[in-house]
Amino acid sequence: MTLKKLLKPFKLLSIAKKAGVVTVLYPYQKPLITPEFRGKIVIDSTKCMGCGACANACPPNALLITESNEAVILNYFVGRCIFCGRCADVCPTGAISISNEFELATTNLDNLKTILVHRHRECVNCGRPFATGRMLEYVLRKVHMAKKYINECPDCRKNRFINIVSIRKR
Ligand code: SF4
Ligand code: SF4
Repeated sequence: MTLKKLLKPFKLLSIAKKAGVVTVLYPYQKPLITPEFRGKIVIDSTKCMGCGACANACPPNALLITESNEAVILNYFVGRCIFCGRCADVCPTGAISISNEFELATTNLDNLKTILVHRHRECVNCGRPFATGRMLEYVLRKVHMAKKYINECPDCRKNRFINIVSIRKR
């Protein structure tokens, strides 16, 4: 073993001595929580539209989106969350905020779950449920021209377009 390797522990000891004590006796002492600290995420149900962008970006699948004919359901299971904040970065409506909450131990698994249900709106022509109301409101805010056809499902819109084109061709 070289002299450099032999002296390495002493070098580390001197660095640690200079740094001093950097840990606290948690839970008896409060840990340092900076504004940048990332804890459990909070989803604002009044802003979420059920687009699923957060679930697509979530590395450990702590956020999952499922869709049935009637509704879109967003599930957040904090037990899988790695507190990376990707979901908040990609959410187009700013519905996700990152809280400082980190003391999440519980004996009830349900306390670790957040479930949001967005019911689908029905098409004014055929009555088929096709998109969440908030999603349609979001599109309307971005594309004002969409006002004319926003309440129609994609199939009815397509058929209307085909009819218009075929009438013009006659
Ligand atoms: S990205 Fe935002 S708006 Fe879309 S489902 Fe997630 S929380 Fe809701
Ligand atoms: S903070 Fe990261 S791991 Fe947790 S829900 Fe958001 S994207 Fe998923």
